[in-house]
Amino acid sequence: MKARVVLRRRRPPRVERGHPWVYRTEIDRVEGAPGPGDEVEVVDADGRRLGFGYYNEASMITVRLLTRDEPPAPDLWERRIALAKGRRDRLLPGATAYRAVHAEGDDLPGLVVDRFGDVLVVEALSLGVDVRLPTIVEALRRVFEPTTVYLRSDAPVRRLEGLGDDSRTLAGPPPPERAIIEEEGVTYGVDVRAGQKTGHYFDQRLNRRAAGALCEGAEVLDAFCHTGGFGLQALRQGARRVTFVDSSPAALQLAAENARRNGVADRAEFLEANAFDLLRQLEREGRRFDVVVLDPPAFAKSRQALDAALRGYHEINLRAVRLVRTGGYLVTASCSQPLGRDAFLEMIAGAAGDDRRALRLLALRGAGPDHPVAVAQPQGDYLKCAFLEVGEGWAGGGRRRGLPPLANEAGPV
Ligand code: SAH
Repeated sequence: MKARVVLRRRRPPRVERGHPWVYRTEIDRVEGAPGPGDEVEVVDADGRRLGFGYYNEASMITVRLLTRDEPPAPDLWERRIALAKGRRDRLLPGATAYRAVHAEGDDLPGLVVDRFGDVLVVEALSLGVDVRLPTIVEALRRVFEPTTVYLRSDAPVRRLEGLGDDSRTLAGPPPPERAIIEEEGVTYGVDVRAGQKTGHYFDQRLNRRAAGALCEGAEVLDAFCHTGGFGLQALRQGARRVTFVDSSPAALQLAAENARRNGVADRAEFLEANAFDLLRQLEREGRRFDVVVLDPPAFAKSRQALDAALRGYHEINLRAVRLVRTGGYLVTASCSQPLGRDAFLEMIAGAAGDDRRALRLLALRGAGPDHPVAVAQPQGDYLKCAFLEVGEGWAGGGRRRGLPPLANEAGPV
């Protein structure tokens, strides 16, 4: 007999609106003694069935629902992984490198899988996924037929589940030192073992391509470049010169390697620096760019950190606006989940206002289609990427009047 989690009388429970999480504070009592990661049935205060999920007493998110009406079938993980693959096949036709499973957004709570061709990298974000790894690996092997399945479970959120780090080869030979992938016409070498997260940030894929389309003939600054994502797209699409900036020597080394790999190293320079300092320094030196890209790490990982994060975002965006020639573009992103779209745009307006430049919003984009979001669980929607045209100063004639406008016609965003 499956254990039952009985919710408090609270109308309407979050899970009734389609949200897959049951918080500890919503639980009235647990009937039976479920072990870590065990399947449980969730019922409301009147005993009505709300669904089935997996249980972790140690987590604030105590149950993550897998199904609503029926107990999970034995082949549930494989079926849903196959559905996730079908989604990518349709939305990114021909691609062999992408986020293959986006957790709750693909109805696979706690499970992230990135695909680098024949190498799959699994990131378990919950205890329920940890205990199901053998089933999940088997399912991944059947659906994707990979050479290697590698585990990269070192995300800090695992602490909230009572879990430590765990990285190792789960199936096949160990991954190669560089997994080589092709993304929108650019080739990247990826370090899946020691790189950041799973080695590559797939979420910006289509934003990188769209930003690259603005860069023909342009001088570009790619700040927070990691392994070269935006700048390499810019070079592929005809940028005159790209300055890559990152504070991580390992990331920058890979960016340089990737520039060579794509035959564009002669138009690239690489600066290892703290972007906060470097933006200021470039301004002092009078350097200006046609396109500036800002893609920093998440400054706010929690609501409490939002104020400090906003000061950071304001600072780099203000500096970046100053570096853009009139008629040029700022592409600026935030992957801080607690920072909403409106607050993000407000921050940009504030940064532009401080420099008295007129900014025109061309597009506000999010993550690509390999990062689906369950609308009932808006927490999955974290990435904002604004495309802005930087105009004249609107007070005192503008400090930067006389700078040449970007020579080329902008491509479609
Ligand atoms: N734009 C990249 C992804 C950026 S991830 C892409 O398209 O692939 C964020 C990057 O910011 C990381 O590579 C990290 O090393 C770098 N970083 C973090 N803090 C930084 C700082 N203060 N200055 C410069 N780079 C920083």
